[in-house]
Amino acid sequence: MYQLFFFLLPIPLPLLSLQIFINNEWHESTSGKKFPTYNPSTLEKICDIEEGDKPDVDNAVEAAKAAFQRGSPWRQMDAPSRGRLLHKLADLLERDRVTLATLETMDTGKPFLQAYFIDLEGCIKTLRYYAGWADKIQGRTIPVDENFVCFTRHEPMGVCGAITPWNFPLLMLVWKMAPALCCGNTLVIKPAEQTPLTSLYIGSLIKEVGFPPGVVNIVPGYGPTAGAAISTHDSIDKIAFTGSTKVGKLIKEAASKSNLKRVTLELGGKNPCIVCADADLDLAVECAHQGVFFNQGQCCTAASRVFVEEQIYPEFVKRSVEFAKKRLVGDPFDARTEQGPQIDQKQFDKILELIESGKKEGAKLECGGLAIEDRGLFIKPTVFSEVTDNMRIAKEEIFGPVQPIMKFKSIEEVIRRANSTEYGLTAAVFTKNLDRALTLASALQSGTNICDSPNAGGKMY
Ligand code: ADP
Repeated sequence: MYQLFFFLLPIPLPLLSLQIFINNEWHESTSGKKFPTYNPSTLEKICDIEEGDKPDVDNAVEAAKAAFQRGSPWRQMDAPSRGRLLHKLADLLERDRVTLATLETMDTGKPFLQAYFIDLEGCIKTLRYYAGWADKIQGRTIPVDENFVCFTRHEPMGVCGAITPWNFPLLMLVWKMAPALCCGNTLVIKPAEQTPLTSLYIGSLIKEVGFPPGVVNIVPGYGPTAGAAISTHDSIDKIAFTGSTKVGKLIKEAASKSNLKRVTLELGGKNPCIVCADADLDLAVECAHQGVFFNQGQCCTAASRVFVEEQIYPEFVKRSVEFAKKRLVGDPFDARTEQGPQIDQKQFDKILELIESGKKEGAKLECGGLAIEDRGLFIKPTVFSEVTDNMRIAKEEIFGPVQPIMKFKSIEEVIRRANSTEYGLTAAVFTKNLDRALTLASALQSGTNICDSPNAGGKMY
């Protein structure tokens, strides 16, 4: 009775072309090669896709350059019309929301309800947000000497490359695409090789919406080939990348060795979640749980280092274990499922290897710690207590359903420990004391700090 979504399949495949999208047309790969994409829940192949490589990226860049030429339909389009196209794209995502969420679940293994309510919701809102910005981006006038007029104009960069990861394939695509289009750029996109389906579906919607040919081009393929062709391309003016820190370094290097294109990177995280003794314990336990286990633990922002003040440590661990044991792992199309499979064998093996390292290095395994037998890439929600900062599970990005819980005594100590990481992506703090919340928010060296302090009126960002 819980298999609510089986009737959604099969997908209306005519809408999903599995080819390379250039100039609003579908193409076979220049090399003639294809690559497979798999359903990580069943390990079955979903389909083959045309495999883009450097020649295909070159064709996509030519199309994007032509679409960006002075006098082209895209360059002549006024800003409100660009905004209207983005709104129309959001309308089509709303129309095809079930199909897109189904494809995302098939390709990533994430629970359908999360794909539908979180990923798709985020995509639609992002498109509408940037649609609104399109005609509100203004320059400034600057007072200088009497005989001069000085003003700034915001101009599009030109051809933008976008390389996306597999954990939120559609959302990451939209995060990159919407601002670039809002400002009048053109795009060459390479989706992650594990999860190309929703990106290709977007190609068909781009055409339906009526974006001029060449404004959005999508080249599925592998990182060292198609991805590297983008990062080293001399005619790409800017690149946005989300993925591993290792590849982020390669992208910067490639940008500086080619045309010094601008680079925006969103890379790994080993994010502290600090729970003070005065926190609302129910709230902190649940948020820390969701913070690390959401999306099978495959989030760069995962709360993957939980620091708990010593007075409440045993109780926090006990309740966290209860939560983890109750977490339902299984078929992502089952409405009850909270956790699906990991994305692929490589990630699955890496997570299990890190779990083994935690056991060997002396952390206390409270629950989980194993794969679910006979079920491919599913891993039991795992909680470790008695974790110390020198252990690999406290230092390395696990990207899986593993919660390492550490103990702290004082605020100065936890600030020092939380900041001693090569990553500084996000941090979270739970306390009812406003002074502590503000002290921690300013002391934690990360891009986004989230404090929950009811005395401060709820959430602060
Ligand atoms: P993960 O290890 O989690 O798969 P990656 O950083 O390898 O993360 O992948 C993120 C994205 O970067 C994917 O689209 C992938 O194809 C791409 N990629 C991988 N290697 C390179 C590379 N050398 N140059 C450009 N893109 C790459």
